[in-house]
Amino acid sequence: MLRLDGVTVRFGERTALDAVDLEVAEHETVCVLGPSGSGKSTLLRVVAGLQQADAGRVLLSGRDQTGVSAHRRGVGLMFQDHQLFPQRDVTGNVAFGPRMHRAGRAETERRVAELLELVGLPGAGRRAVTALSGGEQQRVALARALAPEPRLLMLDEPLGQLDRGLRERLVVELRRLFRRLGTTVLAVTHDHGEAFALADRVVVMENGRIAQTGTPLEIWQRPASPFVARFLGFGN
Ligand code: ATP
Ligand code: MG
Repeated sequence: MLRLDGVTVRFGERTALDAVDLEVAEHETVCVLGPSGSGKSTLLRVVAGLQQADAGRVLLSGRDQTGVSAHRRGVGLMFQDHQLFPQRDVTGNVAFGPRMHRAGRAETERRVAELLELVGLPGAGRRAVTALSGGEQQRVALARALAPEPRLLMLDEPLGQLDRGLRERLVVELRRLFRRLGTTVLAVTHDHGEAFALADRVVVMENGRIAQTGTPLEIWQRPASPFVARFLGFGN
């Protein structure tokens, strides 16, 4: 469903992505794991069409996306700092996307209610987002990312700002939700516990390159390099 062929992104002297090859199958949840600055967000941005590749190409459902604008790619991206609109209520945030704009008011309300139910915030449509807890805000951001029914859902540190207990609970809920919807997911995290709990397959990044890819169990049992082992917290 998604394929990256030798994707390279440079910022001046710095190579954020270095000839990255990656495939994500339909209905699969892939988690990208890696330290700060390893290129995780850049990877999502290049797939979303928000960042140009200097070399290589991105294919969605077999089609080369070179030159295809972000809103035509049919992918959803939930940003690292979820960026809700503080002046809008929950419904105003979830129904923000262009597709929802075209629907009538009653249809929009119905869809929003459905999405809020899905993310575990039933009846929250009229609440001010500023009055929600961090975890509730993350759920609103998730509902907004799901609203256009993207063929690929990308999440950048979806649970980043939450405390440990809430994160562990939400990871389980997310996994269930994605399974139920059959969503194809590419999610970024720097927390290996979170990646292992959420993913069918994990991709470990180091300095713009893929250091290892495999199932959580494969990576846990056989880290491919000292870097991966260290990153998982083995040894020193
Ligand atoms: P974090 O875990 O901190 O979010 P990340 O893995 O998402 O890190 P990226 O944001 O993809 O890392 O950045 C990869 C590298 O590219 C970093 O060295 C970063 O400084 C650099 N970089 C990213 N965006 C830009 C930009 N717009 N201009 C210049 N350099 C950039
Ligand atoms: Mg990032």
